Amino acid sequence: MGLRQVLVDHDVSDLERMFPGWKGLQHYELRTDTADKDIVTYACANGLTIVTANGPDFQAAIRTHIKLTKKSECFRLFGLIVVPNQAAVRTSALKDFYRKLKALGYSLAKVNNNNLLVKVMVNGRVTVSEPFKRCPHCTHYD
Ligand SMILES: [Zn+2]
Repeated sequence: MGLRQVLVDHDVSDLERMFPGWKGLQHYELRTDTADKDIVTYACANGLTIVTANGPDFQAAIRTHIKLTKKSECFRLFGLIVVPNQAAVRTSALKDFYRKLKALGYSLAKVNNNNLLVKVMVNGRVTVSEPFKRCPHCTHYD
């Protein structure tokens, strides 16, 4: 697998400068005021992992989206990374992010493949969970 693409929500667009391959809404020709549910739809269609500080709203939007699954169509998502809302601590909290993810036994590709939820705390602690129902149509999961 090559480098997975990441969509960075507008409220945390400073992270575009920190991580190569993490691209903001404009990169995908989305308006900066695009609704959460439309960002989720776009991420679904394009295999993108979403990065946001707005965890609860995006988790709800992902759950709603997966429920739209039809027999003929896949509505799977590709992971959600929730980062601190406070810009002043965001950069330090995300220092060594990939190393911390690896130490937990994960990679960005695994987060993407399995639609995992990654939370980065203010103190830099990283947790990974699998709270989302799998797309019923999907055979991508093992
Ligand atoms: Zn599916």
